[in-house]
Amino acid sequence: MSVNDTFMQFYRLNRPNGTREDLIRKELEKVLQGLDYEIVASRKEQTLEGNVKTSQILQSADRVYYATTSPITKMHTNENIGSVIIIQDITELEALRMELNHVERLGLVGQMAASITHEIRNPMAVVRGFLQLMREKSPASLEHYYRIVMEELDRANGIINDFLSLAQNRVVKMELYRLHEIISELTPLLWADANLRGQSIEVRLDENAPLLMLNHKEIKQLVLNLGRNAMEAMGEKGNLILEMKRQSDGVELYVTDTGPGIPPAQKERLFEPFFTTKSKGTGLGLSLCLSIMERHGGRINVESEEGLGTTFIVFFPFASERVEV
Ligand code: ADP
Ligand code: MG
Repeated sequence: MSVNDTFMQFYRLNRPNGTREDLIRKELEKVLQGLDYEIVASRKEQTLEGNVKTSQILQSADRVYYATTSPITKMHTNENIGSVIIIQDITELEALRMELNHVERLGLVGQMAASITHEIRNPMAVVRGFLQLMREKSPASLEHYYRIVMEELDRANGIINDFLSLAQNRVVKMELYRLHEIISELTPLLWADANLRGQSIEVRLDENAPLLMLNHKEIKQLVLNLGRNAMEAMGEKGNLILEMKRQSDGVELYVTDTGPGIPPAQKERLFEPFFTTKSKGTGLGLSLCLSIMERHGGRINVESEEGLGTTFIVFFPFASERVEV
């Protein structure tokens, strides 16, 4: 019998020339095209026959709706003379709810990390210390075992450290640095790693780029994480490129690999804590990178083409008071 203006806007999304006449006194099926007609229709029956109110979440391709049906009754006799269907678009509300979940989960990571520091780190330090002593007193034939055990301990320690830097929302000390100097410090390390894997590295640094406000330690960590991920993604003969590009409002760092790329479905989850596709991965590397860039007031983006490779683009804004030296 009637539709409101908002519904007409919705209807015209797909039929720009649609008019009220297309809908009034027409079958409900025609009116509700594009929505879950069957569900709404069955709820409407319930309302008409049983005089009851119903509500239902509906999902279309990219939006979420909350639909209610209510009877229209005559005041004195309570006789049912029709029903009204109200459909609310709650897509944004849903998105907000999901975001909140995400934030809550991050908060939980923080709490867990705090207890892990005390519960695990200290006993591990003791174990490592005694192991070192035993190693010195043991025959050389056992050296191989000791090395493996120590390496695994150090790996576990590394995971805990990553976890902590991710969870602590501490204020880090920022100083004026040249990005290329930090990267240059790391290249020998990356080279060694790449050599072992039979891969190569190209480094194109801009030595005249302006100074940036950075935390030296954190940026080292970021470059290492991105570099390691790139190398882990590539097979032998892979090529890793680290490149700096100057922009009008800051400096970009491109970390490009010739790996298999990232499927779109995974791309959205990369920066989530604990998201990993590796059997020995922690899934903390990229979420750490993200939190580092948030502290630096920068951004981190990823471009990837399946089969061709991946580029992580890190943007560092110029310090608000630019200092030229
Ligand atoms: P981890 O390296 O421990 O798995 P990260 O947070 O560093 O955790 O990375 C998360 C996931 O993102 C990886 O498991 C991998 O699937 C994907 N990824 C990261 N970098 C790349 C890359 N350069 N190429 C392809 N996939 C990548
Ligand atoms: Mg990683």
